[in-house]
Amino acid sequence: MNHDDLNHWSKRAADWTRDYYRGLRDRPVRARTAPGDIARQLPRSAPEQPEPMERIFADFKAIVPDGMTHWQHPRFFAYFPANAAPASILAEQLTAAMAAQAMLWQTSPAASEIEAVMVDWLREALGLAAHFKGTIHDSATTATLCAILTMRERALDWQGNKTGLSGAPRLRIYASDQTHSSIDKSARIAGIGQDNICRIPTSQNLSMQPELLERAINLDKSNNFLPAGVILSIGGTSVGASDNLAPLIAVAKRHNLYTHVDAAWAGSAMICPELRELWAGVDGADSIVFNPHKWLGAQFDCSVQFLADPAPQVRTLGLRPDYLATLEHSYLTDFNEWTVPLGRRFRGLKLWFLLRAYGLEGLRERIRNHIRWAAEIRDEITALPGFEITTEPRLSLFTFRYKSDAETEALLTRINDDGRIYLTQTRHDEKFVIRVQVGQFDCTRDDVAMIGIVLRDLTKG
Ligand SMILES: *Cc1c(COP(=O)(O)O)cnc(C)c1O
Repeated sequence: MNHDDLNHWSKRAADWTRDYYRGLRDRPVRARTAPGDIARQLPRSAPEQPEPMERIFADFKAIVPDGMTHWQHPRFFAYFPANAAPASILAEQLTAAMAAQAMLWQTSPAASEIEAVMVDWLREALGLAAHFKGTIHDSATTATLCAILTMRERALDWQGNKTGLSGAPRLRIYASDQTHSSIDKSARIAGIGQDNICRIPTSQNLSMQPELLERAINLDKSNNFLPAGVILSIGGTSVGASDNLAPLIAVAKRHNLYTHVDAAWAGSAMICPELRELWAGVDGADSIVFNPHKWLGAQFDCSVQFLADPAPQVRTLGLRPDYLATLEHSYLTDFNEWTVPLGRRFRGLKLWFLLRAYGLEGLRERIRNHIRWAAEIRDEITALPGFEITTEPRLSLFTFRYKSDAETEALLTRINDDGRIYLTQTRHDEKFVIRVQVGQFDCTRDDVAMIGIVLRDLTKG
């Protein structure tokens, strides 16, 4: 395969893409694959001799699509969305063609500068204060890890990176029980330890309570532990819980603690000014993460971290060995110093394409529709016999239950075997509940209405 062949096959791939998207509604959303089904169809070893692309492509079509859960299916209501607006897919094709590595400004000037400008476009689109700078990571987990490492180093007066943690005081991180498991993972990797995430109980509205946060910090201090930072959640993964930011950030500031806001899913909705009350006070945060690859429509992966002051994170993560030195260094941004890996993809391009091809108004309209349709289907489910709404819609996410835990679980299995829609579960208030989130980029009102049709079909008689 050479570059002339690439031209031919790119067109074949584009045709396949068109047909794939046209046919998505006829496919079951969740893969009907049993474990091992796919691996069994592949030879045990790599071929010694080149194979024709015709055969490789034929195998792709025969094996892969049926072995996929279709995240771009308009009736994907599981987890959170991982969208891929067509304009962002196109940008990813161009990124793949140049295959540049954006570790330093010098190694991809356009990638670095477009990244910085896109982060600023998004900052403004989300209504964040002008002082925030930022970078694009692969995932929210990486951004949260970077924030937790920064908390650690800041609390240890920058000695942890140098001397290690043995002999260091016991570091403490504060978060509610509604925060994502990426906080646990980051605490593990950062050497802080999962047991040192202090879980602050939430009140009725599922926000951490500022008095309890303050009490926990004071108690830890009296035990000679070292409070390092607070992780705040906006739009938690389970039922969409949000912390009341302003009073919690005030407590953190009083104790000189670093604050990180995880708005991985809900952040996209903040392009709608009328929804921003959800994160009132966010301008006081030190670090904020949201994933444009979730609700906004940027092809996976694309996670933006805003920083009130990049300096502490760069001090924590930046290394400048001789072989990475560039002459321009003193005044240009080398984004590898803001994150964990050295090598970085050119992720700004798909944001550039996305934001221009749909415009903020086009993206807002989608998000507003999703929220409206989620409310409609919530009302419809309440009226069905045996069903109860267990958590009310937070943006476009709510949960429901059918009769009992066992009945709910059995129903969920029937729903996903049926294939017309895809839903997933969580536990809330000790109960097994089914989550519904509306957020796929091409989703229509009829697609959401299918939830009601499926629930009725599967519970009648
Ligand atoms: C999805 C999600 C994450 C994890 O995001 P990744 O980008 O997959 O690492 C973290 N927090 C919240 C609230 C999320 O919704």
